[in-house]
Amino acid sequence: MYLIIMGVQGAGKGTQAAVLKDRLNIPHITSGGLFRAMKDQDTPLARQVQQIMARGELVPDDVTIQIVRERITQPDARAGFILDGFPRTRPQAEALDALMADLGSKLSAVVYLHISDEEAIERISGRLQCALDEKHIYHRQHNPPRVEGVCDIDGGQLFTRADDQPDSVRKRIADFHAKTRPLLDYYREQGLLLEVNAEKAIEQVTEDVLAALGVAGA
Ligand code: AMP
Repeated sequence: MYLIIMGVQGAGKGTQAAVLKDRLNIPHITSGGLFRAMKDQDTPLARQVQQIMARGELVPDDVTIQIVRERITQPDARAGFILDGFPRTRPQAEALDALMADLGSKLSAVVYLHISDEEAIERISGRLQCALDEKHIYHRQHNPPRVEGVCDIDGGQLFTRADDQPDSVRKRIADFHAKTRPLLDYYREQGLLLEVNAEKAIEQVTEDVLAALGVAGA
């Protein structure tokens, strides 16, 4: 399955994608993760990306498309993938359609996890990330680790991402409404959009997503 998971920051994309990845045996590819992986590179492009990310702004489309293209043409993504954080703009969505056509394939579905802005701000401001694996995510109140400040899975130290600070969060939510929300119509028109209410318990949202995808055993 070639899936996109969409939603405002804090909607639970990473959490749900981690479950889907195991269930469907396809890689979970995050554009933010691809950019963060550039942090150890000492190139002008890597430095530019770091600065843009720290301000909570979007990386230019051409750079983003190139980096995602390189990743989804890797062998492990041949049979499917879950894209998280990409596409975020109309040009990115169109570039992805063109790339899928080049690969002789097309998207299977777009899962939209819907939450209000208030809920998003509340969730992001409590978010904690593991220093050893950025896909291990907790929330101070709603999903705390067993031991404060320590990842349950690998013992990594938990921290708040620089772009989860209030000013960056507001900027990212505004960007979502201005640039990414219009993509919902783009995918709705193609009959690909599956909208799921994500203001529920994590397990309930997982069930609803699997049911919407028609995955057996949901
Ligand atoms: P995320 O982890 O998805 O919130 O992404 C972190 C940061 O990476 C964003 O705030 C942007 O600066 C950058 N980024 C990630 N995905 C994209 C994208 N599709 N287009 C442009 N910038 C992106």
